[in-house]
Amino acid sequence: MAKALECPWCRSENLHHMEVLVYARPKEDGPSYRHFVSAVSPAVSFPSKLDGEALSENPSPRRSAVSVNFFCEMCPGLSRLDIWQHKGETHIAMRRTGRDDTLRELEAFACPPF
Ligand SMILES: [Zn+2]
Repeated sequence: MAKALECPWCRSENLHHMEVLVYARPKEDGPSYRHFVSAVSPAVSFPSKLDGEALSENPSPRRSAVSVNFFCEMCPGLSRLDIWQHKGETHIAMRRTGRDDTLRELEAFACPPF
């Protein structure tokens, strides 16, 4: 059964995904790497190793995770869907990450009609 995600700022279901972040940790408690894929351009990044404060970016403190960043069509809220592994379970959560009034204009510019 599918259910539409809601904006955690205004509860609208009109969310647009901007990018997908994959946090790979080959060994539990080992080094964490981030892969970046844009949803509005063909850009795909090489894996970058997370060190220092950047390590806390991985939603999983010890294992792997996937995050999807969204902007909302109805408000300037930015949000993130996190899916992460923790103690043999898979957890999912939607959270607020910030606000940006310019993204809806950028999205319209980045995705011309075909
Ligand atoms: Zn919203």
